[in-house]
Amino acid sequence: MVALSLPNPVALPAEPSSPVVVAIEHLDHFYGKGALRKQILFDINLTLAQGEVVILKGPSGSGKTTLLTLMGALRSAQSGSLKVFGQELLHAKKRRLIQVRRQVGYIFQAHNLLESLTARQNVQMGAELSPRAVDSSPKERSIQFLQAVGLGDHLNQHPHNLSGGQKQRVAIARALVNHPRLVLADEPTAALDSKSGHDVVELMRKLAREQGSTILIVTHDNRILDVADRIIELEDGRLV
Ligand code: ADP
Ligand code: MG
Repeated sequence: MVALSLPNPVALPAEPSSPVVVAIEHLDHFYGKGALRKQILFDINLTLAQGEVVILKGPSGSGKTTLLTLMGALRSAQSGSLKVFGQELLHAKKRRLIQVRRQVGYIFQAHNLLESLTARQNVQMGAELSPRAVDSSPKERSIQFLQAVGLGDHLNQHPHNLSGGQKQRVAIARALVNHPRLVLADEPTAALDSKSGHDVVELMRKLAREQGSTILIVTHDNRILDVADRIIELEDGRLV
């Protein structure tokens, strides 16, 4: 694995940078309408600081993915307060959600790589969406990040020629290539064996540390708990 030497991203002009990346107060969330309306999250209070690695665990159905998609501005908050990068997402309009999404890196259980593209092209697709002015090209940055995740020899491979762990490492490179301030990973090790699962989250932590990103990992994989600075737990929609 090569050491990362990445170009410094130019800071966004928007709001002054804050040590608090996510601030949640009295957040409730409901799915469904009328008689089918069902409360899924109850009075969530949570703060994620810059550079923190937090694991969110809890049984299946406890609301982990719902909370992650709210923090990632993939859905609009309904009640309480949810601030990401200082932006209030309560009843947020599409425009504001999109603005926040551009600064978030997402990693999901299934790697979601495009089969018709090589590893480098998959990462480059992410790099081309960059909101920030950087001094190297999307192609150069993609190669740098694939080298950083130990795949410098696999740049031109298609996903079907890569192992599960390698594909997840490509997904990590793609999620981090734009220096996101927040990385949200939903069960990133679910499809991996114990060793590759651990390697993958270690790598995520190392890269995010180097660029000062905050990471939230949703998991019920007890084998990776040691990478966290802090572990929080959801049970029936409540933080315990
Ligand atoms: P977890 O990620 O912890 O397994 P989820 O956030 O996916 O939990 O789901 C929490 C609860 O919300 C579950 O009971 C699930 O069935 C329900 N749920 C999730 N998504 C939706 C949706 N889009 N519409 C209705 N109910 C949903
Ligand atoms: Mg889930």
